[in-house]
Formats: sequence, C-alpha cells, structure tokens
Amino acid sequence: MKQKIEVFPGDEVAVEEEYLASDGTFAENGKIYASQIGELILDNEEYVARVVTPNPPNVLKNGDIVYAIVADIRKTMATADVVATEGTKREVGGETYATIHVSKISPGYTDDVGAELRKGDFIRAQVIETEPSLQLSTRDDDFGVIRSYCGTCKTEMERKGKGLYCPECKYSMPRKLARDYGNVKL
Ligand SMILES: [Zn+2]
Repeated sequence: MKQKIEVFPGDEVAVEEEYLASDGTFAENGKIYASQIGELILDNEEYVARVVTPNPPNVLKNGDIVYAIVADIRKTMATADVVATEGTKREVGGETYATIHVSKISPGYTDDVGAELRKGDFIRAQVIETEPSLQLSTRDDDFGVIRSYCGTCKTEMERKGKGLYCPECKYSMPRKLARDYGNVKL
C-alpha cells in the first residue's frame, strides 16, 4: 500500500527506523526530510521514502532557445552554462553544460573562437543536439551575445558596428552579437 501527500523541502516525512531516504529526501538524526517540493511516496514494499516532482523537469530538447553564460573559450569551441530556457520560468533540469563548436558560432567562416565569444558573455542560443552532449548554435541573427561586460573595467559594452566597444577603455573588439544586443530585458 502506498500513500501520497504533498510536501515541501525540509518537511519531516518519515523516520529512518521505518524507511530509507531515497530520491527527493535526505536523512538526518534518524529522521527523513523532503529535499524538494513534490508528492511524498512512502513505499511500504521496499521501505523507501521518495518525493517526486509533479512537473517533469525542464529537460532541454533540440530547437529550444536558451540563455547561457560563456564559461570558457577553447581552440575549436566555447563552453557555456545554460541558465534559462525561453518561454518558461522553470529551472533547467538535466544537463546544462553545453558546447558551441567553432563552426556553429557565426554564419561566416571563423577559426578564432575568441574573436566571436568571450568568457562571461551572456548569450542566446539554440539547442542543436542533446545527445551524447548538449550542443548549441549561435549562427542565426537572433543568436549570439546579448550582454557583455568589459574584461578590464567591467563596464557594459556597447554595440559598435559588428562588434563591441567599451566606452571607458575606448577600445573595440569583434563579437558574434545577437540582432538585439543591448535591448534585451533580462
Ligand atoms: Zn573597459
């Protein structure tokens, strides 16, 4: 027999004498607590306490438009952490570590990742592959950098032509910008 009750993180849901902590729960001082919002399932056949989320996690799929922060620039790719999906406020579940191959950064040919993206850039991108690893593209006009801060003085960079300009340091640098760079409400 299984019973279902809605619980919140930190709610005491069972005691360790009777159940083992499992998905969505943790044990502390002999008691079992919920670690997430969800439905409590006390499984009386396997003696485990679980909390399952009513909404399935927001797992990314091909075609999704995402917001990400560039984490690293390498020779043939950039890596980025996906922080949000367009059209949903739900947290991104599953894999959020993504790569953008040099051939998927801009519509023209480039062999210099650092001339297109920089660490810390906030980008809008499209998911083009999720298996075996999460891959993004910023090739289309809608995609690319939407906000960037100067690496030297941290001032927000301004759009100048096809690149960016720091009004403090007074220098320009190339970048793959989204069409609406500087006009995105975050
Ligand atoms: Zn600067």
